[in-house]
Amino acid sequence: MAYSYEAPVSQSLFDRASAVTPGGVNSPVRAFRAVGGTPRFMVSGTGPYLTDADGREYVDLVCSWGPMILGHSHPEVIAAVQEAVSRGTSFGTPGEGEVALAEEIVARIEPVEQVRLVSSGTEATMSAIRLARGFTGRAKVVKFAGCYHGHVDALLAAAGSGVATFGLPDTPGVTGATAGDTVVLPYNDLDAVRAAFAAHAGEIACVITEASPGNMGVVPPADGFNAGLKELCAANGALYISDEVMTGFRTSKAGWYGVDGVRPDLMTFGKVMGGGFPAAAFGGRGDVMAHLAPAGPVYQAGTLSGNPVATAAGLAQLRLLDDAAYAKIDAVSAELRSLVGDALTKEGVAHTVSAASNMFSVFFTDRPVRNYDDAKKQDVFRFTAFFHSMLEQGVYLPPSAFESWFVSTAHDERAIERIAAALPAAARAASEATA
Ligand code: PLP
Repeated sequence: MAYSYEAPVSQSLFDRASAVTPGGVNSPVRAFRAVGGTPRFMVSGTGPYLTDADGREYVDLVCSWGPMILGHSHPEVIAAVQEAVSRGTSFGTPGEGEVALAEEIVARIEPVEQVRLVSSGTEATMSAIRLARGFTGRAKVVKFAGCYHGHVDALLAAAGSGVATFGLPDTPGVTGATAGDTVVLPYNDLDAVRAAFAAHAGEIACVITEASPGNMGVVPPADGFNAGLKELCAANGALYISDEVMTGFRTSKAGWYGVDGVRPDLMTFGKVMGGGFPAAAFGGRGDVMAHLAPAGPVYQAGTLSGNPVATAAGLAQLRLLDDAAYAKIDAVSAELRSLVGDALTKEGVAHTVSAASNMFSVFFTDRPVRNYDDAKKQDVFRFTAFFHSMLEQGVYLPPSAFESWFVSTAHDERAIERIAAALPAAARAASEATA
């Protein structure tokens, strides 16, 4: 596909980056390989806008993949960061900021009795899995195809859907032995979970699921799915781990737990709670968390865990996220969903706008999407054309058809109007695209 617009400064930065960094990026999806073209190197962000190295401004619908829920450079978050930095950047000792952030999380999310802070969502899920194994004395982990939990070895496994099966490593570097303790099941299929518990009686330490998946596009849990998982785990002596790295503090004040009320044994958080800095967490039942070092025998640690600058940013952001903020995000999301749906319908493009609270994505198919196999059956080439038209017109979408779109409290009428103005041409491009 040829692109009618160019980004020479980004391209030259990407050339430099590619010489010193594998693929030119520090996280693969940023390289635009799913959509082609030059990844934009951003230099600044304000409110709902990003500005790239070529001086072009974009309405941002990625929001750093979720964290920037108040928009970029929110003055109160910046002020909290500057105040924290002025006192020093890392002490390697306990500090009050991390206590305050932990208290805020415990106050908001009722099933979290105790919480441990870490630096990334990957660390949170990795540690939660280790704790679940240590607590139960069992080895196997159940996960769902299409759910992403960070690049934890044991969770980088996928397998044929439809039946319970041992996971095969998804990437070189993950050994068969590691992936062999992972059972990968189709999402939204409780019968498959029942069958896995029957096939591996007494061996399954935990079931980990995205509270509402956003990493195969947005595919919400079917009615009763999370409750069913919880019930099956309880009946079989396994822990139910709800990964709220993406949904936490976004889909409501109490994340997805605030939406469906299903009480997990352990939960993981990241993204929003770090205010744009590397802060994440895992927490849950007090008796389970008590197994963590130094209270208990399961080891877990981190040089920068509870970093004072990151915790100041996260705390400032969470304190600004009141009911009015969520009402605003929900309203922006609803308006955009209807604008996108209308534009695609007008051009006769088969599509489904799929939402989970204020998270949403567009599948370029009108068949129902309940799991990863369904998601993969969409017309990805139409997304590619849609994406590039939006980019050319100054709207920055996730560079993949399998990612959630994110909005913020900063997306005001002007930003929405700019998106609305770009949609007709993008919908046309999608309709004219060929495979
Ligand atoms: N869990 C979920 C649901 C995620 O969406 C992600 C990242 O996108 C992670 C875990 C990993 O988080 P991180 O990228 O901070 O390691």
